[in-house]
Amino acid sequence: MLDGLGRSIDYLRVSITDRCNLRCVYCMPCEGVEWVDHSAVLSYEELIRLCRLFAELGVTRVRLTGGEPLVRRDLDRIVRGIRAIPGIRAVTLTTNGVLLSEQLPGLLDAGLSGVNLSLDTLDRDQFQAITRRDMLPAALAGLNAALAAPGLNVKLNCVPMGDNDAQLAPLAALARDHDMAVRFIELMPIGLGSSLPRRTEAQVLEILEAAYGPARPTGWAGGAGPGRYVTFEGFRGRVGFISAMTHQFCDQCNRVRLTATGFLKTCLQYEAGVDLKSLLAGGVDDGALRAAMEDAVRRKPAAHHFTEGRGDADERRNMNQIGG
Ligand code: SAM
Ligand code: SF4
Repeated sequence: MLDGLGRSIDYLRVSITDRCNLRCVYCMPCEGVEWVDHSAVLSYEELIRLCRLFAELGVTRVRLTGGEPLVRRDLDRIVRGIRAIPGIRAVTLTTNGVLLSEQLPGLLDAGLSGVNLSLDTLDRDQFQAITRRDMLPAALAGLNAALAAPGLNVKLNCVPMGDNDAQLAPLAALARDHDMAVRFIELMPIGLGSSLPRRTEAQVLEILEAAYGPARPTGWAGGAGPGRYVTFEGFRGRVGFISAMTHQFCDQCNRVRLTATGFLKTCLQYEAGVDLKSLLAGGVDDGALRAAMEDAVRRKPAAHHFTEGRGDADERRNMNQIGG
């Protein structure tokens, strides 16, 4: 499916819950989170129906996110259901990893193709400071389980915020020791991320080159996303940068997002899109749903304006509701 500017949209990110077992400082408040009512969250049947319609419109890859997708009880059923949709070639997961080691066998059996694990530090105290939970050992068990799974595509995502500068080289070293991608994601001014310090791609690269010598570009495209990848002498894997702030990639954007409450979001920064859950509740047929999806995608914004301050049409949700 093409948007109004001719960009091909073949990648869907689905937030399957707003709930989470961590409280990362850039994503959720420490206390007083107001959860969406269960009845407002897309059911299994609604998710599968919408994914089937997206596949009919040309989506080939679906990433499940949240909140924390592993806290949703029917996750393996969702993976299996989406994997069975004609046209879907990959179903992947973005997770904090805390519950991954126990659930991975079932998810692999259901057809999971890849895992992106979010981890900003290997230091237990700092992990607790960033996530407000003392759960680093469980997250590392999840990472190790994913790395041990044959054929599973594993990436690690880290948000550099200054406080974790000393952790960037040790995290990158995971790509030295394993055939995986370690990616550094520039903090975006969305929700709680608006008021925190951040590091740029150039600053992170400087830290990594001081530790590992000059970075070499790789031809690797890294799957469905906008990452740019380099490697260092002696590394088995790759180091990636997703730099929405300093290397805007909107002209190549290939994705749309479905929130946990069934809102089709066409750009991370803006509230633009369509409330598919309301249409489902109204009992519309597949043709009307497809038309609403196509119409929203046609009006997908050209680009974000993160560096220009906030505007009236900007997203007001926190990341746990959008899915990152
Ligand atoms: N709970 C899962 C996890 O943490 O991987 C999935 C949801 S989380 C919202 C998805 C990703 O968004 C995580 O990698 C997280 O680091 C990232 N994220 C959250 N807020 C962000 C922000 N303001 N800027 C950049 N990335 C952010
Ligand atoms: Fe939870 Fe992920 Fe948000 Fe952290 S980034 S609070 S793990 S949803």
